[in-house]
Amino acid sequence: MNQSLNEVYENMGICPEVLQFCNDIEDSLKERFEKLDAIAEMNQMKVLKAMQKNHVSAECFAGSTGYGYNDLGRDVLEQVYADTFRGEAALVRPQITCGTHALALALMSNLRPGDELLSPVGKPYDTLEEVIGIRSSVGSLAEYGVTYAQVDFIDGDEFDFEGIKNAINERTKLVTIQRSKGYATRKTLSVERIGQLISFIKSIKPDVICMVDNCYGEFVEEREPLEVGADMIVGSLIKNPGGGLAPIGGYIVGRKECVENAAYRLTSPGLGKEVGASLGVIGSFFQGFFLAPTVVNGALKGAIYAANIYEKLGYRVVPNGTESRHDIIQAVELKTPEALCAFCEGIQAAAPVDSYVTPEPWAMPGYDSDVIMAAGAFVQGSSIELSADGPLKEPYAVYFQGGLTYYHAKYGIMMSLQKLYERNLVKLV
Ligand SMILES: *Cc1c(COP(=O)(O)O)cnc(C)c1O
Repeated sequence: MNQSLNEVYENMGICPEVLQFCNDIEDSLKERFEKLDAIAEMNQMKVLKAMQKNHVSAECFAGSTGYGYNDLGRDVLEQVYADTFRGEAALVRPQITCGTHALALALMSNLRPGDELLSPVGKPYDTLEEVIGIRSSVGSLAEYGVTYAQVDFIDGDEFDFEGIKNAINERTKLVTIQRSKGYATRKTLSVERIGQLISFIKSIKPDVICMVDNCYGEFVEEREPLEVGADMIVGSLIKNPGGGLAPIGGYIVGRKECVENAAYRLTSPGLGKEVGASLGVIGSFFQGFFLAPTVVNGALKGAIYAANIYEKLGYRVVPNGTESRHDIIQAVELKTPEALCAFCEGIQAAAPVDSYVTPEPWAMPGYDSDVIMAAGAFVQGSSIELSADGPLKEPYAVYFQGGLTYYHAKYGIMMSLQKLYERNLVKLV
């Protein structure tokens, strides 16, 4: 590391001890980062090829208003998503407001009263509990007579094949598989393991629809779940595939029939994909998707960098410093409320937006303890941008993710450590 960059970091509030500690860790990660670069390069070519094949042109960025009939950009973008993720069709819309909405749409449009939904990978993401009706909620699937079955992992991480086999019955219509661990303690599923699970399920009931909640997983590996037998993948554009530029949106990619069902539910029976103006955002959808492989690469490097720094300091980190990655989320168990708050203050202080505010723990609806959150994002709630949060309860784990560039993620993590160090909450070994 040359002298002047060190000076820049000192100017940016990082003391020499923290800088030295972090630089040593970064030096040890070179080979690991090269492997990630190879994945990003493959994915960049995948996206580029899909854009060329579908004749993306300047006309695509014009956007439409009103009904949005014959919106060229919208239709081409959907084909670009379909080709990149290896699906027959795609629905990629600013009218899909978030990831939960995209998942609710995929479920509610492909299930009918009397059907059963199965999760063979334990409890789904918090917000889906209300969609499904695990927690009773107005408009849930349960209200419409769709029942729900769940099979938990064995020993935290192994598929319970016997249990899954027993849970599949003549009413089982759709299986939901969450790729990322989210805020659960299990491991994130690799695409390969998702493939094994789908093969097993289809060997018992070939016509069951296998949907993957792909949030945080896009472009982390060279393959996506549709390549290993999934019928539908679903995600949010203010996470990985929006590349930080999409200001809103969600996607569903997969089998034509599944995607069409979702389109008829999003707009209206009879209208489906034919309406839905792309307004002024379609250009940023294209550009964000084009950048997404690189952005995800930076976020992954940041997560691995953090895992290795905090692991070296004696904290439990999930995933650990060396294991393979299947999403961009990193958890660090900081053990005390002071350390959790200091960490989040560091992330906030490193942000391009709102760096001057101090995050405070507060009682958020739906949580049983106070929660602290750090985010200084261009797009509200965007978690492909560097962000961190954690509930103030044992083991005081912080979950953090994102970073539009590796350099920003790296600085955020250095800043988190700086805050812990200044307050004597950590010793640099
Ligand atoms: C973020 C996320 C969701 C929900 O997405 P929102 O955009 O927050 O509604 C669902 N599942 C997983 C695994 C997620 O990470």
